[in-house]
This record gives sequence, structure tokens and C-alpha cells, in this order.
Amino acid sequence: MTEINFSEKKVIDLSRIAASREALQILPAAMARRLGVLPVMIADEKLYVAMEDDEDYLILSQLENLVGLPVIVFRAKESGSVAEFIRKYYPEQVSEQEGTPLGLLEEIVFRAMLSRSSDIHFDPERENGYIRLRIDGMMQVDQKLPLANMRELISAVKVTSGLNIAERRVPQDGQLTLWIGDNEVSLRIATVPTLYGEKMTLRILTTERTLAELAEVDMLGMNEEHLKMFLDTLSSAHGVILLSGPTGSGKTTTLYAALRHLKHSGTLHILSIEDPVEIPLDGINQIRIDSERVDFNRALRSTLRHDPDVIMIGEIRDAETADIAIKSSLTGHLVLSTLHANDSVGVIARLLNLGVSPELVNSALRLVIAQRLVRCPCPHCVQMETPSTVDCEFFGWNNEEMLVPKAVGCPLCNQTGYVGRLGLYEMVAVDRTVRDMIRNKDNEDALAHYLFHEKNLLTLKEDGNQKIQKRLTTPAEVRRVVYMNER
Ligand SMILES: [Zn+2]
Repeated sequence: MTEINFSEKKVIDLSRIAASREALQILPAAMARRLGVLPVMIADEKLYVAMEDDEDYLILSQLENLVGLPVIVFRAKESGSVAEFIRKYYPEQVSEQEGTPLGLLEEIVFRAMLSRSSDIHFDPERENGYIRLRIDGMMQVDQKLPLANMRELISAVKVTSGLNIAERRVPQDGQLTLWIGDNEVSLRIATVPTLYGEKMTLRILTTERTLAELAEVDMLGMNEEHLKMFLDTLSSAHGVILLSGPTGSGKTTTLYAALRHLKHSGTLHILSIEDPVEIPLDGINQIRIDSERVDFNRALRSTLRHDPDVIMIGEIRDAETADIAIKSSLTGHLVLSTLHANDSVGVIARLLNLGVSPELVNSALRLVIAQRLVRCPCPHCVQMETPSTVDCEFFGWNNEEMLVPKAVGCPLCNQTGYVGRLGLYEMVAVDRTVRDMIRNKDNEDALAHYLFHEKNLLTLKEDGNQKIQKRLTTPAEVRRVVYMNER
């Protein structure tokens, strides 16, 4: 086994790693500020810290005396970021809520934001309650609480978000906005009764971080060819672009990145219809549709009267929406939407199954994208290994000399071996041959054969294969997300 970029391992990217509560508590705020040290993690009875200068041995020995533990130093990737993150982790004004359930909530939400979590779960179990965070799509235990404290916490959140506190047997939904330091955070709250009591899930809708993390189109992880296809299609004045992928495959991020890209031109009227609106975007008219209460298609038709150039429809779920989406693209709108299907070819088949005529599909559809998200190996603990026989078979590798990244796990990635995520894409631009095949009602296999064997477009798996070889992800991750749809 060979290790890669050994020097890189002593460099820490603070925007991708969350400092633990334990570590922060061991060093008082005043000392952290004075020494310019951010405690990140305690593991194996050692304190891991980030500093601007990882060779300042004087500070290092002061620090070791102060905390009574051996200290392992990382240099911050971006200069100046240590001070910035010390300010974030040790806010000047202490919350008035400290010591109360709401204080605990603020503390949890704060840590969830800094660790890029998308959701917070309060799970009552037989003996204890568990607080779990979803980071990079995977659940991690944040802390354990006595059941009574968890009930108190859940009640406090229910009161603050206007839910019925006496009702514990029926699921409830609500929303809550918190101010944490200088950040306004919106949370969507849901409760559900479980065997051991009421469970609560908090989805983090908007934070300074999610806004900052909204990717620009060139940061989605598309390779050069895919990025060019995507941007070329976005520059056309009309037509339909459809995305597919399971929940959590990053479709919304891609759509939002596309809208933000279109917005930069400054000359387009962009309307989006979403259920619900996940992240507010400046300069885009976002219409929230609650499909249980409002007729989605009626709302969609009425938005067309507002003269948009670009329309984003959260999801095409039925024949009527498909019909409106396709027809509005023919009257000079660029339409972006998502559709449930396993892969890009499946999207075309699904449109036809919904009853859209081949002629309409042919005149409207420009680009179909299938996508998945894979996790990126943690730069601090990644190792390179010879791929297994199973991987060689799956990816068609036969070079025994090749090395692929393997996720290992270290304190800095919570032992998961991964930090951050990246998209895998399959992109099909609708060309003359595809149109002929749609018109002739050729089956999915024939279409797939043309696209992936004659035209040699990349499948999700092949895009994954390339990204493994660029050391951006691991064989295990690619197999996890693509094994279901092999062509
Ligand atoms: Zn690691």
C-alpha cells in the first residue's frame, strides 16, 4: 500500500471539517484567540488543532502544558482561516439561552451548520435519546442524551415552532427560524411517533453556509465535456432540459446552479415552481406550491402568463405537467425539470410512457442528465491500494499495477474515511439519430446501444471510473451508487 501526498495530510481545510464540542471545551475562548489555535478533535488522548504556522514550537509547548495532552498540529489550508473559524466556533456574545433546552438546540444547530449537515435527528430509543446528524448524506451520532432531556428538547422546539405540544401521537410539521451568532437559520421541523416516543427531524433549509455552498456550474464536478454540453444547452433560448436521479443525488444543486448561471446574464426573467422552495435565490421568482392544497398544473399554467424566459419545475410527476412543460418550451421558453428514472435513456422512455407524443419529445427535448453523488476520500487518511478482483471485474480493469484510493478513517473525518461529495453524470444531447429512434419507437436497449457503444457517451459508471482514476472518489462509492443500473 502506498500513501499519497504525505505533505498534504498535515494540511486541514477548515471549511470541510467540523470541530468537536469536546475539543472546543478543552481550550477556553480567550486562549484560543490569544494563541491563534483552533482545537478540532480529541482522539486517542491527543488533541488535534489547526494553526496558521504549524512550526511554532513555542505555542505548541504552551498549548500542551495548558491542556495536558499531546498536541498534533495541522496547518490551515487557507491562510487567515484559523482566526475566522475561531470567531465562528467561539462567538463573542454568549446566548441568553445557555443551559436551557433552546440553548442546547442552538448549540446543536450551530455544530450541524459547521459540519455541513443537512438534517438533525432527535431519536428516542429504549434507554437513551440520540442526536444524529446527516453529513455528506450519511448519518452520524452527535451525542447521547437521557430520554427525559430529549423529551424536554423536543417540547421546546415544538413550542417555538408553533406545533401542538400536547399532541404526541400524530405527525406534525412546522418551521422555525433561529439566530445563531450572525446567521439566520431556517429549519423545517417534522415529528412522528415511534415505539419509544416522539421523534423529531430538523432539516436545515438555509444558512450562510448552504448559500455559500450553492455551487457554481463549474464546481459541480462535471468533466470538461459534460460542462460544455450543459452550458451550451443552457445558452439556447428554448427547449427542455431534464435531470433524473434518486433522492439525494444532487439534482436540486445542479438545477439551482443552472438558474444562478442563467441569472448572471441579467436579461432573463426566471420563474421557478417548487414544492417546497428549498433555498431562496436572489433575482429568481420562486413560487412555492404545496401540491396537496394547490393544483400544481393550474399554478404552472398561470405562471406562463407572467412572461418568463426560463421556467424551472421542481418535478414532472404526471402526464399533465409533462404536457405543459413540453408545450411551453415550444412557445419560446427554456424549461428545466426533474423526472424519476434510473438513467438518461429511462428519462426518454418515461416521457413517452406518460403519453407525450414522440413528435413533441423530439421538438422540445434538448438534454437529458442522469446524476448521482459520491463521497470524496478524506485527504488526511486516504490510502492507495491495488483494486480487488471484484472491482477489476466491475470496472473492467486488468492492470495489476494500478492503484485506487481507499477510504480509511481518522479523527478528522469522524472515522468515515470521507469528506465532501462530487457528482457523477451521464449526459445525452438529443441529436438527429436519437430523434429518428424516438420517432421509430425503438426500444430502450437500442437507444442505449447507440448512445453508449456507437457514440461512446460516458455512462454513470464510466464517469465514476474516470473519477476514481483521478483519485476523486473510491471504487466502493461508485459501486454503491451505480450498481443498480448497468447498461
Ligand atoms: Zn480521515
